[in-house]
Amino acid sequence: MSTEYTIPGEFKSAVEGKCPRCRKGNMFRAPLLSFKSKKMYEQCPHCDLKFEKEPGYFYVAMYVSYAFIVAQLVASCVATYVLTGNLESPWLYLSVAVGVAILLAPFNYRYSRIVLMYWLTPQFKFQGKHFLKSKEL
Ligand SMILES: [Zn+2]
Repeated sequence: MSTEYTIPGEFKSAVEGKCPRCRKGNMFRAPLLSFKSKKMYEQCPHCDLKFEKEPGYFYVAMYVSYAFIVAQLVASCVATYVLTGNLESPWLYLSVAVGVAILLAPFNYRYSRIVLMYWLTPQFKFQGKHFLKSKEL
């Protein structure tokens, strides 16, 4: 009898907010669509990876977040133009932009950190030994 392990894919783990090193522990204390969704663990509950690897590390996530919001604002304003054909009122575009920015703020906050940790921090690569390690033992 052999034991089989299914290691979750990188993209799937990122979408689910799992630790980039072990892909098992959660990075955030609560799901995305909850009022406590901003609370983050200091260390991975499974492999003890320290998420904020140095002071100010998460400031870098602001640049990722900036890229997200620019893409979202351009997309939402183009969509507004395509749907309404309005070229007269700046208020329509302004209210759409503000609404989109507020609605997507929790998403941007979470996924800017996830993108930073998964794809912009080489030290946080997946390591199979941490995936196989069992915390319960
Ligand atoms: Zn971990």
